[in-house]
This record gives sequence, structure tokens and C-alpha cells, in this order.
Amino acid sequence: MAEVKVPFYGHVKQYLSIKKEIDANIEKVLMSGSYVQGPMLKQFEAELAKYAGAKYAIGVGNGTDALWLSFMAMGIGEGDEVITNANTFFATAEAIWIAGATAVLVDCDENTRCIDPKAIRKAVTKRTKAIVPVHLYGQCAPMDEIRKIADEFGLLVIEDNAQGIDGAGKNFKQGELSDVVCTSFIIQKNLGCFGDGGALWTNHQYVNDTVRKLRNHGSAARDHHSFGFNSRLDDLQAGVLSAKLKHITAWTDRRIEIAAKYDKGLKGLKFITIPCHRPGYRHVYHLYEIETVNAADRDVLLKYLNDNGIDAKTHYSIPIHKQEGFPWGKSARIAGSLANAEKNAASCISLPMFPELTDAEVQYVIDVLKAWKK
Ligand SMILES: *Cc1c(COP(=O)(O)O)cnc(C)c1O
Repeated sequence: MAEVKVPFYGHVKQYLSIKKEIDANIEKVLMSGSYVQGPMLKQFEAELAKYAGAKYAIGVGNGTDALWLSFMAMGIGEGDEVITNANTFFATAEAIWIAGATAVLVDCDENTRCIDPKAIRKAVTKRTKAIVPVHLYGQCAPMDEIRKIADEFGLLVIEDNAQGIDGAGKNFKQGELSDVVCTSFIIQKNLGCFGDGGALWTNHQYVNDTVRKLRNHGSAARDHHSFGFNSRLDDLQAGVLSAKLKHITAWTDRRIEIAAKYDKGLKGLKFITIPCHRPGYRHVYHLYEIETVNAADRDVLLKYLNDNGIDAKTHYSIPIHKQEGFPWGKSARIAGSLANAEKNAASCISLPMFPELTDAEVQYVIDVLKAWKK
């Protein structure tokens, strides 16, 4: 790649923009002498629950753990089928396998790239226990339609919100139409800490109580244990996240502003499609994902962007069922055609998208794309 003119992430820029607040929280934790399951974690969990409008928020080691710990707390495991996107980050399916359940992969909508409710309905069997819709690229899945299917068949719904924090649907908030919302705080996510981290929120007391035990060696009281794991969000990360949570809405607003600039600048181009934004939804643009109209153009266009100093990437060029060796002896089922997921994988390009991007950088990306000649 040529010298980077427009980077893909702004992690250091973001840190510098609120350095005082982050440093103050880090110092507070260091001086407290309490670094794991201490007061800062408690504070952040309370802030996150309030922000999410949920009764309970629980910090865990990472986003993948948030998913499978919820599955386990709800009794989802061997013999159960869990329906999710074929087009998602690998960890969504991985979490289903870690819990011992069968991953049932279904197609996405051809425009929004969110899970397709029609495909979910067709995939339901007697063994189906849960649906895990992914708020892919930052746009909420159609939770209202998914809730209807879940009610009809008596299914649990767990939102994979690793990419969608601060988002909402037209008539629903995250968590309003599901049992649990899971998220990741790895730095490239919209709310990121300086290491690994994750959380889930829920209104179910039993999920709260069980995950709190599972994440800490099955222990709710000193010296008492049931089967569990070690998956805790440490207090330094909680301090970073507590400082950042106050800014998430403003950062999302800036992402939306940048997306609108991209939309306007790229609209007329015949060789790409721009992201489909569901009317009335708060799409948080974790990624600004364009697709080449011809899949054959994708690698050429990606290289052209990179050669011009634009750090564009792909998310995700290989869908789960096309990974080498799939399903590695794990239990998986492909339900129906995955043509839309495969088209998405073959033609996707993520343009730089983070709140600290300057207008000039955004314009440069637009100008470079406009100047492309095959
Ligand atoms: C990042 C991500 C995860 C996993 O989060 P980790 O913190 O890396 O474990 C799960 N699902 C989706 C959709 C993600 O983007």
C-alpha cells in the first residue's frame, strides 16, 4: 500500500481528544488498588445499564464470551439449533459452537445486508431454540419482524450488537424486542477500550445472576462455586469505557454525518452501490460498506484505493460457510440459498469510517473513487 493518506482507524486521535478524562479514570483505578471486579467495573456496569435502559448490564472478557455466556445462561447447548447470519464476523457462529449448539446459517437481505426474516422463518425446525440477529455494519436487524417469528415459535432472541452500539430501529430500542443484547469493546468497535472487553445487557434476572457467576468461576459468594469460567472485564478497561461512554452519542452523530457526505458524493457512481439505510433507523455506521456492482471489480478497486493511500478493507470477504474446512466437525446447517451473503462477501469494500475523520479526508476518498477508470 502507498503512504497512508486516509487511515482506517483513529484510535490515537480519539484518545487524545478525551485524554484527560481517560487518564483520570485510569489513575483512579490504579490508586484504588482494586483492578478486577472492583468499584470501577461496578460503576461502568451501572452507567451502561442506565444508558441501555436495561435492568442489568454485565461486563465480560470480550464480545464472543458475552454471546456464549448468554447462551449458556439460557440453557442453549447441545441438540439446540441457533439461527444466525451467514454474513457476519466469524465470532457469532463461533460462540454458538462454543456453547455446543448447532449454527444454522441463513441469508441476508439483498439491500440492507441484515439477516432476512423470510429466511429465518424457513429455517425454523423443532430443534430451533434461538435467533441471533447481527446488527451488521451498525444497522439494526429488523427486530420487530424477528420478534414476531420468535413469539410464534417460542424462541429466544439474542442480539449480536458488537457493531451496533448506540443504534436503534424505527419503532424499537435495542433490547426492547429481545432477551439479551451482547456487545464487544475491542478497540475497532464504536465503543472501544484499550484491550479486550465485552458486555451484555438484559432485563432477565436469571441471566444476570447466572452470567455473573459463570464469568467468575461459578462463584457468587466467597468460597462457593458451581461450574464456571474466567471471563471478566477488568477495572482499567471499565475506566476507559466509562470515560468514553459519555461521548458515544456525539461520536455516532459524527459517523452519521460522514456517511451522509459519502452518500452524497458517491451516489451517481455506476460501478458501486452505497449502503442501504433503513428509513427511520439509527444506523451507527460501524462500517461504511460499499459493494462493487460487478464482483470481479472488487479486488481491482480495493487495490486502486490502497494505491492512492486510502486504507480500505473488506468485511468480510469469506462468509462463514466458505471458510476452509467448515464446519470442522462442529454442528452446522446451511438453511436455504446464501446467494446474497455470497454476493456481499465477493463485492464488499469498507471505506474509512471513524468519528475523527476530517471532512477533507472524506472528500479525498470521494474524489479518488470518482476518478476511477476501470
Ligand atoms: C467483534 C465481533 C464479535 C466478537 O467480539 P470480540 O470482542 O472480538 O470477541 C462478535 N460479533 C460480531 C458481529 C463482531 O463484529
